[in-house]
Amino acid sequence: MSNNDAKISEKLNKDTEPKNFTKNPINGTKFTLMVSSAKGGVGKSTFAVNLAFAIQKFGKRVGILDADIHGPSLPKIIGLNEKPKTDGKYLFPLEKYGAQFMSLGFLVDDKTPMIWRGPMVISAIKTLTEKVKWKDIDFLIIDMPPGTGDTQLTFAQKIKIDGAIIISTPQELALMDVHRGIRMFDKTNIKILGLVDNMSFFIGSNGEKYNIFGEGGVERTAKEFKKKFLGKVPISIKLRESADLGLPLTYRDPNNDVSKIFNEIANKVIQDII
Ligand code: ADP
Repeated sequence: MSNNDAKISEKLNKDTEPKNFTKNPINGTKFTLMVSSAKGGVGKSTFAVNLAFAIQKFGKRVGILDADIHGPSLPKIIGLNEKPKTDGKYLFPLEKYGAQFMSLGFLVDDKTPMIWRGPMVISAIKTLTEKVKWKDIDFLIIDMPPGTGDTQLTFAQKIKIDGAIIISTPQELALMDVHRGIRMFDKTNIKILGLVDNMSFFIGSNGEKYNIFGEGGVERTAKEFKKKFLGKVPISIKLRESADLGLPLTYRDPNNDVSKIFNEIANKVIQDII
């Protein structure tokens, strides 16, 4: 175990000792799923949003909570920049495409850097988890910040989480951190629903397959840690474009080949949780 791993392990042991509080489900929601990545920029937010709309296609009511408080990207990915309404006590999620959304990105302008210290992180998460009036959500998808820090621990300790999905690219550099992420969820008793290999490969216009970030690493890691492997999402121009347009691919074009991969993953996740 590396020095860094030992430190995290010590912090987790300290922070996860039994305490006298019960974990609460988030009001107005049935099931809570975390989408997490050990590293930033591996496609976690893109995955979270497209998974949500794939789940919606199975007739479920979905919401997305953007807990990536340092770099919220939900407003851009779904093309929303309104301020949520409030009755002075609660915040009302924004609604679009038949789903509900909340992000700190709706509350601050997009030029303000999100610099938070530990206690501020905890109070921001408290607001996001206790003060949002979700309406009859079947699956709330939480887009977590990357890494294994205060946000992860706060969620793990306070909220009833039904499962976590870990996103990674197959690159060795990203996989090193995945090991740390798996250990964190195992220590905090959050069920890992499985690992997803994003930006897995690219098919060129000549039909040739390029393994830009390497091959098979996420699936191997899943095997090594006895976790499920949920699937491979290719590098897709349509997926990237849909994020820039604020119109998720699985919503706009559910029969697209990439959307079908999300549908399969959504099906596995629903089966595993319900
Ligand atoms: P994270 O939430 O992990 O920081 P994002 O979801 O913001 O990552 O994705 C990082 C960038 O990569 C974004 O520009 C996004 O549009 C793009 N991206 C993510 N997944 C894919 C993919 N499978 N194919 C093409 N572009 C992708």
